[in-house]
Amino acid sequence: MIRVEGLEKRYGSAVAVQGVSFEVGEGELVALLGPSGGGKTTVLRMIAGLETPDRGRVFLRGVDATDVPVQARQIGFVFQHYALFRHMNVRDNVAFGLEVAGTPRAAARKKAEALLETVQLPGLGDRFPAQLSGGQRQRVALARALAPEPSILLLDEPFGALDAKVRLELRAWLRRLQRERGVTCVFVTHDQDEAMELADRVVIVSRGRVEQIGAPADVYDRPATAFVASFIGTSNVLTGVVREGKLETLGMELSAGDAREGEAQAFVRHHHVEVVGRAEGVPADGITQATIARLARVGWLAKLELVLPDGGRLQAELPRDRADALGLAEGQSVFVSLRDASVFVEDYVI
Ligand code: ADP
Ligand code: MG
Repeated sequence: MIRVEGLEKRYGSAVAVQGVSFEVGEGELVALLGPSGGGKTTVLRMIAGLETPDRGRVFLRGVDATDVPVQARQIGFVFQHYALFRHMNVRDNVAFGLEVAGTPRAAARKKAEALLETVQLPGLGDRFPAQLSGGQRQRVALARALAPEPSILLLDEPFGALDAKVRLELRAWLRRLQRERGVTCVFVTHDQDEAMELADRVVIVSRGRVEQIGAPADVYDRPATAFVASFIGTSNVLTGVVREGKLETLGMELSAGDAREGEAQAFVRHHHVEVVGRAEGVPADGITQATIARLARVGWLAKLELVLPDGGRLQAELPRDRADALGLAEGQSVFVSLRDASVFVEDYVI
């Protein structure tokens, strides 16, 4: 449904987007995820036709749409601050686009009422935007975007201005609605939880480039770059040297996969630092001794700060009941092992 190829956009001498390519299949929800200023909005605006690429092409429904004007692209949009018309009631806000497109007024209003039911705001058609909560307003914005039945919907941080609880509700609700209607979506967010929960696939964008494309679990489990490893989830960052497929770090050897030899950084998720028992005797291979400097019980998790003999620190997480079963406590000496390190032999600069 959407294919972008080699998109590039500069503002003056600043490069906002360079060489961005990806595809979105019919009915798929793809999230553009990355830090603020990375170029996500610019990519979305080029898909919409609100911005002209300096280079590259945008294909929509199999046709080159790069030079097609925004009105003719048959795309719906929802933006973070896409203000509704304040002087129009909710029904007229939703009907507006239909009337502009030539739908007779009565039919447009009838359709608007039906859409308000779809977005779970039945009976609120007579209200004005100021009489709605933020979450309700974004539902109206979505109803308005869906009114002309676009096959493609672009959303740019649509829940960014809402409080956390409402955001979670709308997330689940958007996902259901998107599935039901089979609409193809590109969803821009800097919130990784939002992207991971909503998306079929994520395109991770940083500094104008695509870092990785994949299913949420893939990018989490197999980050392609040091940037992705540090951006997605939280990890311990270790430095060491790779030799013969092993990373030497913290007095241990960790599997380095197919990383080439040299100085390397390794990213180890907090829950991949495993406490294997109380420290008695000599540590086995791949196991190091550590002292529990801090143990915090947070919901169902126990979060540990571990201090190694050389003074290095590791963060670890495990289910609280497991920590309790092991009888872990602050000040204790334990053995820990590390698994599933993502190792990158490259210059790493944040
Ligand atoms: P994101 O949506 O990922 O936060 P943007 O696409 O908004 O990133 O911005 C990417 C870069 O392009 C930023 O450095 C931003 O300052 C710059 N930029 C975006 N729009 C404009 C513009 N209209 N004029 C000048 N610079 C812009
Ligand atoms: Mg943006």
